[in-house]
Amino acid sequence: MDPYINNDLKDIENAVKEFCSRELDQDQLHKLEDEHRYPRELFEKIGELGFIGVGFSEDIGGSGYGALGHVIAVKEFCRCLPGMGMALSLGYIPGFVVDIYGSPEQREKYVRPMIEGRYISAISVTEPDSGSDLISLKTRMEDRGDRYVVNGSKVFTTNAGYADFYALLAKDEDRQSIMIVDRELIEKNGPGRFEINDLGRKMGINTTTSGELVFSDFEIPKENVLGQRGKGLRMVLDGFELGRIVIAAQAFGSMLYGYEKTVDYARKRKQFGQPIIRFQSVEHDLVDMYVEIEKCRNLLYKAAWLYDNGDPESKKYSSLVKLAIPECAIRVLNRTIDILGGYGYMRDQGLEGALRDIRITSIYEGTSNIQKNTLSRMIF
Ligand SMILES: Cc1cc2nc3c(=O)[nH]c(=O)nc-3n(C[C@H](O)[C@H](O)[C@H](O)COP(=O)(O)OP(=O)(O)OC[C@H]3O[C@@H](n4cnc5c(N)ncnc54)[C@H](O)[C@@H]3O)c2cc1C
Repeated sequence: MDPYINNDLKDIENAVKEFCSRELDQDQLHKLEDEHRYPRELFEKIGELGFIGVGFSEDIGGSGYGALGHVIAVKEFCRCLPGMGMALSLGYIPGFVVDIYGSPEQREKYVRPMIEGRYISAISVTEPDSGSDLISLKTRMEDRGDRYVVNGSKVFTTNAGYADFYALLAKDEDRQSIMIVDRELIEKNGPGRFEINDLGRKMGINTTTSGELVFSDFEIPKENVLGQRGKGLRMVLDGFELGRIVIAAQAFGSMLYGYEKTVDYARKRKQFGQPIIRFQSVEHDLVDMYVEIEKCRNLLYKAAWLYDNGDPESKKYSSLVKLAIPECAIRVLNRTIDILGGYGYMRDQGLEGALRDIRITSIYEGTSNIQKNTLSRMIF
């Protein structure tokens, strides 16, 4: 019995679990990783089944279960197959900011098709010289009557190349604004130029791209500005408040994947005439993992609940889970590999891949240090 999870959420959890055990396949993941290709067909399926929409509001085609809904769905995706679960959720996490701040027309145009699995989203905030220090960004937008002219470059944009829309943060005079760069604009590619370069292979989540976006006198109509002009940084941070909770859910689900696989292995694997789970060092490590999992579960659900209830503690808990759960998942998955011995190091066991995939959760949408800075400001 979990106080945060009602019967509806339990049913959703079971439905996602059943879907994942039927449709998510490790060999398919490895093939897509090797080909550096996004699981678009699966993204479409989870959209059709309503699994993307679980946390979005009903007025835009979602089911209205808020952050807790997102957390339950993403946790189950990643619990089944971390690399795939992360890739699928990364198709819509960048769209949170458009959902929160978009006009009714923009939400209809971008968020509804995303919830239906037809559109993939991206957010372009980071630049070569501006990562944690977002305020120092250099990409500029100049007012030219009915449009903006954009110059600058972005790096590390997840889904660059196949995303259907990008939320782009740029400097508007001395403040920041967000503009939506959509497929229509990309295909027209002018006046001016817009270029996307894939930054290539990385440690994990290799079914997704991390791209560089280059804008040279690229024209964007004013109607593509998101929310209030000059409030871009605030909007990004508000999107991250939810995004960080959902990223913690990626790490949490992946931790469950590693733990459950390892308990099963330790029961079956025999050395010195007995299952290795009987060795006290292994058994104690598994108990430590269980305790960590229960701590993380309670923190995560509480963070989502606070967010859904508009509680003033929500911002603090969003940073808290983004700090605590990825760091914990990295430790747990690293230890699971030891418990499987040499087999843990092999690709087909899935654990080394899971560790590489979740490694990014302590970096994107604010590194652990940045979460500590935020927390120290709030706590002290
Ligand atoms: C796979 C991947 C996907 C990504 N997806 C996206 C995306 O979709 N959109 C996007 O815009 N960005 C994305 N990013 C970028 C990511 O958010 C940044 O990499 C991250 O915010 C850190 O910025 P940085 O890499 O420039 O590191 P830096 O900011 O240069 O930080 C380097 C080190 O210094 C530390 N540091 C920096 N400032 C402080 C401080 N004030 N106090 C203490 N320590 C500090 C950091 O913690 C870190 O350890 C992605 C990155 C990767 C690798």
